[in-house]
Order: sequence, then C-alpha cells, then structure tokens
Amino acid sequence: MSSSAVENCWILAYDSDGTQADNGEFVPHFTTEAEARKRADGAWAAEGGVAPGYFAYTTPRQLDQPCLIVKCGCCGKAYDEEGEGRSVHFETVEDARAVVAEDEWTVLEDGTYRCEPCTVAAELSGEAASR
Ligand SMILES: [Zn+2]
Ligand SMILES: [Zn+2]
Repeated sequence: MSSSAVENCWILAYDSDGTQADNGEFVPHFTTEAEARKRADGAWAAEGGVAPGYFAYTTPRQLDQPCLIVKCGCCGKAYDEEGEGRSVHFETVEDARAVVAEDEWTVLEDGTYRCEPCTVAAELSGEAASR
C-alpha cells in the first residue's frame, strides 16, 4: 500500500438531501472542488454525458476519507471499468477485493493485486517452471 498523501475526492451532493449524485451509472469523483464545480455548472452536459441541468441542484463536497484505487503490483495498471477509462474508487478493502475478483484480478498473500493478464502470465510461467 502506498502511503503517499492523496487529497480526498470530491463528489457532487444533491442540495435536497445531501446524497451523492450519480450520472445514471456511477457516482463521479473529482480531484478538486473546481473540477467538481465545473461539472456541476454544465461542462459535463456539454460533453454529452448527461442532460443539461442534470447536476443543477448539486454542490461539490469533499469526502471524509480517501478512496482506494486498486493497482496491479506487476504492470502498474489501475483497475478500471471495462472501456470506461476511469479508475474505480473503493471505500473499503473488502469492497475492492470483491469487485476486482469478478474481473479475474487476484490478491496475493502480501496484499498486492494482479490484473487479469498478469495473473494469467504468472500462472503460465509457474506451470512452465514446474515442468
Ligand atoms: Zn474517489
Ligand atoms: Zn498487471
């Protein structure tokens, strides 16, 4: 686990009840308040992601805890949603493990992760070595 200080993510919270706003698929996380506000002001709608005004009644809020991002300990690739090109953020280690396991990622005894291609490669070389 890296201990580098990462700023907690920002999310957009609905003004009405304070719950985290999603875009219909997931709750978007932002690295800065300015970035979140830009989205809330319609930049995202302009990019065609959501309907204009979708985030009109939201306010940027910083999360209380840092998110977890799973990275392959072999090739360094961050776990992301297939084809989405965005790293998936997790709240807990349990969450992270359960989700990445569904995509054939593995967790080694030392707690590091291996992406699916690296898992396959390790299995192949392991088999080759034992022959
Ligand atoms: Zn996050
Ligand atoms: Zn890998």
